[in-house]
Amino acid sequence: MNPILPGATVGVLGSGQLGRMFAIAARRMGYRVHTFSPDSDTPTGQVSDKEYEHAYDDLDAVREFARGVSVVTFEFENVPAASVEAAAALAPVRPSGSVLHTTQHRLREKTFLSKHGFPVTAFRHVTSPESLASGLAEVGYPAVLKTAGFGYDGKGQTRIDSERDAAGAYAALGGREGVLEAFVDFEREVSVVAARGTGGEFAHYGVVENAHSRHILDLSVAPADVDAGTAREAVSIARAVLETLGVFGVTCVEFFLTKAGRLLVNELAPRPHNSGHFTFDASVTSQFEQQLRAVCGLPLGSTELLRPAAMANLLGDLWQDGEPDWRAALSSPDVKLHLYGKTDARPGRKMGHLTALASTPSEAARAALDARASLKRPRVL
Ligand code: AMP
Repeated sequence: MNPILPGATVGVLGSGQLGRMFAIAARRMGYRVHTFSPDSDTPTGQVSDKEYEHAYDDLDAVREFARGVSVVTFEFENVPAASVEAAAALAPVRPSGSVLHTTQHRLREKTFLSKHGFPVTAFRHVTSPESLASGLAEVGYPAVLKTAGFGYDGKGQTRIDSERDAAGAYAALGGREGVLEAFVDFEREVSVVAARGTGGEFAHYGVVENAHSRHILDLSVAPADVDAGTAREAVSIARAVLETLGVFGVTCVEFFLTKAGRLLVNELAPRPHNSGHFTFDASVTSQFEQQLRAVCGLPLGSTELLRPAAMANLLGDLWQDGEPDWRAALSSPDVKLHLYGKTDARPGRKMGHLTALASTPSEAARAALDARASLKRPRVL
């Protein structure tokens, strides 16, 4: 397989912050970037050479986009399979449409994981109130009911603590099929961001600890405070997942670490991931450059962590009292600011992040949280 070299054009399906940071990495290495999504002036489009503004299911537009690039990758999983197929007829799509197909649907993903012997919490397919009732009888309480497809950041999830919650949770599916999961009383959540090259080579960023708030990632700390055996096991599961899926590119494996010390795979993201954003500032090769290298068939870069790091997300809620106080956050020289170029600061919307570097992971976490707290201006009464 001939590598796709600098000077070539890479195409990104999707146009959010993941595509933006990928495009920044690609342009730094002399590639051109085209992005495709239904929107204009997007986070990715703002830093790309060309922005295609069409619906994902506009197959003629997808074909025109694919003709203009040497490789297509994606930063958004919910691209319709037919569009990926249309693109794949004209340019390599990495990771492939089959990886996307498995991972864009929770039930397919969980079925894939359990079929291949990866550890997951008990789950059942829900298509009716009756299948929910029988699923609950099997997985027990508490449980979580999620939509099978097209959910992210905890959207479309309801916790079920007793039989009384079942009808409301089922109604929240709005007629869509669901996945019922046994609730995991986890000790912590961790992830492994890893990459697999077109020759099967593997690289990983170690284990990262993640804290969520309102089901949205809030803080990631690297390296995670887990024992060496757990870290080895998490990396070896991640490696086996990437190999079994046949991924070319970066994939994130999110885990629950149970109170009994067991790792359960929660979710896969076949692309750079929010829990790997710290690599942009703290690692020799960022997850975005790694994605570029992997999809272009180039050797993978070093994943060495230069210093312990923590990443705090900046959600739209921070703008409720006006523009955050950027100078305050940047008054610490070891804090880096990333903003995604989004103008509409809606609550819960990921607008940017801060990365703090320090000599220990807990100091980095403190520094990232302090910097974020300093963004909030005192309310003028
Ligand atoms: P997800 O969108 O499935 O990754 O869920 C978002 C977050 O909700 C996870 O990171 C957990 O914090 C929480 N969550 C999801 N599923 C479960 C579960 N089965 N047990 C406990 N917490 C869960």
